[in-house]
Amino acid sequence: MRLRTSCPVCGFRAGRTVDSFADGGSFIRIRECGTCGFLFADRELTVEELANLEDDLAAREGPATGAPAIEAGVRSHAFLVDLVRRWIGHGERVLEIGPGFGYGLAALRRASFDAVGVESSAGRRRLAQTISGAAVYPDMGTLPAEMVFRLAVMWHVLEHIDQPVEFLKSIGQHLATGGLVLLQVPSFEHRQSFRRTLRTTELFTQVHLSFFTRMTLAALLRAAGFGLMQMEMDETNFAITATARLRSAA
Ligand SMILES: [Zn+2]
Repeated sequence: MRLRTSCPVCGFRAGRTVDSFADGGSFIRIRECGTCGFLFADRELTVEELANLEDDLAAREGPATGAPAIEAGVRSHAFLVDLVRRWIGHGERVLEIGPGFGYGLAALRRASFDAVGVESSAGRRRLAQTISGAAVYPDMGTLPAEMVFRLAVMWHVLEHIDQPVEFLKSIGQHLATGGLVLLQVPSFEHRQSFRRTLRTTELFTQVHLSFFTRMTLAALLRAAGFGLMQMEMDETNFAITATARLRSAA
């Protein structure tokens, strides 16, 4: 773990502290870039460090055991199927990045989507494969180069990514022409709501490296070559849901 000294989107090396919190024995400051306004934690996590932290969390959460619990998990992801259906047709190929235990992947497959996963945590990857029956790869680099998707889903993933612009571009390389990303991130605009309702750890955790307002999310997507199609606030989850389309290369 190292201190981050420059903006992960534009590289500018200064910014003011807009918030701070303690987690996992670290004191973490949230910086606002002085040039592009992006909000980021003042430290970096390699993919391996993040995977280890996520493995620890996965071990603590424990896997759902027993068919009824798994069935409930899959059913609770019907919302994801409904959202995907707004954008693409029956049977099309979908990538879910960060599928966790694989409930979303299972729900998508049950709805006849050709769903594939990418999950960096080895523990969660095994569970996701077992629960969903989908192929789950360790990272974008291990996806077969010829594998192309109509849509990529990322539910509470982007805020964990150390180099978000490069990461989104790597997804773009696996999207069909005009392909879409459909994502949700916790809303930094709701930081007082998280505090007021004692849900602070859903936003202020050491595994979050970026913090999003509607403005900074739109700017990040733009910087990575995506055009915003839709963005809405999820007032239940204090989160921002967005859909963006890959712009064709100039
Ligand atoms: Zn910046």
